[in-house]
Amino acid sequence: MNHLLFVLSGPSGVGKGTLVRELMREDPTLALSVSCTTRAPRRGEVDGREYYFLTEREFRSRIDENDFLEYDEHFGNFYGTPRSFVERQLKEHNVILEIDVVGGLNCKRMMPEACVLILIKPPSMEALTDRLGHRGTESPEALRGRLSRVKYELEQEPLYDYVVVNDDLARAKRELQEIIKRENRKGE
Ligand code: ADP
Ligand code: 5GP
Repeated sequence: MNHLLFVLSGPSGVGKGTLVRELMREDPTLALSVSCTTRAPRRGEVDGREYYFLTEREFRSRIDENDFLEYDEHFGNFYGTPRSFVERQLKEHNVILEIDVVGGLNCKRMMPEACVLILIKPPSMEALTDRLGHRGTESPEALRGRLSRVKYELEQEPLYDYVVVNDDLARAKRELQEIIKRENRKGE
């Protein structure tokens, strides 16, 4: 069977990280691709778990080594998907990746056969603003930056393979599990 790269995209605060944790808990065979970033860790974030936290110099040298499947700059920091990890894991497992829409579309361009793009949408803008506020991890300025990108991200919906509304967490998780099953069956 060919293994697949499931890319979850959507606005910051929509619940991607929460959904990914739930999916991994129930299917430990899924491999999570941990991205690299130059942004500072938030409280509670662990190097190698949420991200690999690199200096800008380290990040640039990995760009030079062609070590990213895709990378981008957000809010003044670099973020990138480690190519070698994804390619290695895909030999054995489905891989799950949580990145923004531009990154997702770039992954599809790089790996059109393997990549399944899933856009996670909030039930409403109010719910999204609440979730980001409650998470309590962003400064007011960082919060504004993240919210200003939402419209753009949601406009990319037609380019995505699936759209899942994260209203009720358990329901959204089940929908994602169905998508993963359906896509795997196609490759059997
Ligand atoms: P992202 O990874 O997309 O930035 P997070 O997974 O960090 O988003 O979720 C942002 C906040 O919203 C967290 O506090 C999380 O607990 C909460 N959250 C996630 N999904 C739901 C949901 N379906 N209903 C209510 N709150 C949610
Ligand atoms: P945050 O700082 O909130 O963790 O992430 C900021 C933005 O960077 C989010 O939209 C997130 O999806 C995106 N991001 C995280 N990892 C990657 C990656 O590997 N590549 C790209 N292009 N964007 C990423």
